[in-house]
Amino acid sequence: MKTIGLIGGMSWESSAQYYAIINRAVRERLGGAHSAEILLYSLDFGEIERLQRDGAWASLTARMVDAARRLEAGGADFVLICSNTMHLMADDVSAAIGVPLLHVVDPTAAAVRRAGLSRIGLLGTAFTMEKAFYRDRLAAAGIETLIPDADDRREVHRVIYEELVAGKTEAASRAAYREVIARLVARGAQAIVLGCTEIMLLVDQSDSAVPLFDTTSLHALAAVDLALD
Ligand code: GLU
Repeated sequence: MKTIGLIGGMSWESSAQYYAIINRAVRERLGGAHSAEILLYSLDFGEIERLQRDGAWASLTARMVDAARRLEAGGADFVLICSNTMHLMADDVSAAIGVPLLHVVDPTAAAVRRAGLSRIGLLGTAFTMEKAFYRDRLAAAGIETLIPDADDRREVHRVIYEELVAGKTEAASRAAYREVIARLVARGAQAIVLGCTEIMLLVDQSDSAVPLFDTTSLHALAAVDLALD
């Protein structure tokens, strides 16, 4: 079994999900008392969040590269960044290490394509919804991305940073997300991508009339496939 390197803490609420999903899947596949070989480098999200707000992307890139190198030096056979937003610097991280970086968009796009779909509605942080890095990688896989309108983007982003990373799931926020999802579906979204690793803590398939693709689960399970390959 290969050793999985996780850059986590962004936030730890979702890193805990990665840890559980990966270990559960390894137990299901190998049986008995088996569990995954994992190295986790967990960052202080207070610092990461402040740098994001300040637009200090060069500093954030340096933090991600440093974390990835530490995981490689510790024996990780490949690395995951456990945040969609922080894939903004995925190319720099990938270029700085000698082991593969498993990009969150790749298993997500593959799952959407496998389902025969090609136009998704994207929920995530403002960075993920508005910057080109995410939608460009989906487009390269033949998938068109719709994003919520400005008011909806503000609310989706607010709930992530004020509630979900702090471990809070509010009924009113779930209802708001349901409405955002419904508006994306009305505009033609054939599926919804939960493009933030905490959103699966708030909504599930019952909140959407079209299939939901949860990046946390898809990314974590792709890591298991690679580890057991
Ligand atoms: N976990 C989130 C994501 O998947 C948001 C936190 C962050 O900005 O890293 O984008």
